[in-house]
Amino acid sequence: MEISVRLTETPKRKPADESTLGFGKHFTDHMFIMEYESGKGWLNPRIEPYHRLALDPASSVLHYAQEIFEGLKAYRRQDESIVMFRPQDNCKRLNASAERMCMPQVDVEFNVEAMRRLVEIEKDWVPRLDGTSLYLRPTMIANDEALGVHAASNYIYYIICSPSGAYYPTGLAPIKIKVEDRYVRAVRGGTGFAKTGGNYASSIRAGADASAEGFAQVLWLDGQEMKYVQEVGAMNMMFLLDDALVTAPLDGSILPGITRDSILTLAREEGLDVQERRLAVDELMEAAANGRLKEAFGTGTAAVVSPVGQLSYRGEMLTVGDGGIGALTQRFYDELTGIQRGRLPDAHGWITPVCRG
Ligand SMILES: *Cc1c(COP(=O)(O)O)cnc(C)c1O
Repeated sequence: MEISVRLTETPKRKPADESTLGFGKHFTDHMFIMEYESGKGWLNPRIEPYHRLALDPASSVLHYAQEIFEGLKAYRRQDESIVMFRPQDNCKRLNASAERMCMPQVDVEFNVEAMRRLVEIEKDWVPRLDGTSLYLRPTMIANDEALGVHAASNYIYYIICSPSGAYYPTGLAPIKIKVEDRYVRAVRGGTGFAKTGGNYASSIRAGADASAEGFAQVLWLDGQEMKYVQEVGAMNMMFLLDDALVTAPLDGSILPGITRDSILTLAREEGLDVQERRLAVDELMEAAANGRLKEAFGTGTAAVVSPVGQLSYRGEMLTVGDGGIGALTQRFYDELTGIQRGRLPDAHGWITPVCRG
């Protein structure tokens, strides 16, 4: 499939101050978009000026949330070149989400090329300040113009780009999280492993309550017994228990994070005792209380690594390690951002070049 390109005649003014970009507030001049019709496949892939979508009020996505998305970043390096981090893996995960949600597949190599072409066209939008990036948001929506709960016959796939600020403008900072003991995110046989809008819609109540209580994130427990720790809003969780790096297994209820996989790969190579296993919240709180919980951190594209300083469960607040940033947490952050920024070699083929900049 050939991607056609139509460039804007009215480019936007780019945000002047890269230190106040924030997240998801600014969007670039162009987008990738194509439509799907059952029996015909994907049609008319194109890059064109960023624009609003016109949807029929009956459009299926608006009623039944048949929707999936991805999130990944393009980085500008010291030599001005631009790269993406593991885009093939995002494209594969998009297809895994699509399969679960009864949506059409997008060819992985084609999708990576669509991202690469779009970022190349938007290269002047990739910020330079340390820690900043161009965030890509691939999205697929169902778009039948009729009511009725079943797989749609029509879909739209698009990719938009948003210049994003540094997650930690003043360096890594520990966050406070609340173990959620009332609501759950995913259930056995549900959609926990898919990046689908409904998972996030159903999490907003818990997030709002936790935020009102002064917590940055909610740590979810499993949906069956509310006993085992899973992940936080958009990050997988890792715990350094004595000398073991413990994280929830990919059992279908957590999102298979690409940052999670990258850190587990580095940890195994460094000879760490990596345990992908169920971790009971009681074991976690007990370890925190008797000093065996040395470090805890979230992993995800947005923050890369996010240290956790305090954990609260059923009103009891415990400190992780000394409440600061653990040595291992800091090292994983430095290693992964080093590979992304080209300060460290890419021994795993994780980097996809976009252009020379
Ligand atoms: C996106 C996401 C993650 C992190 O995935 P990465 O590929 O590392 O960015 C973890 N958990 C949830 C629920 C997510 O939506």
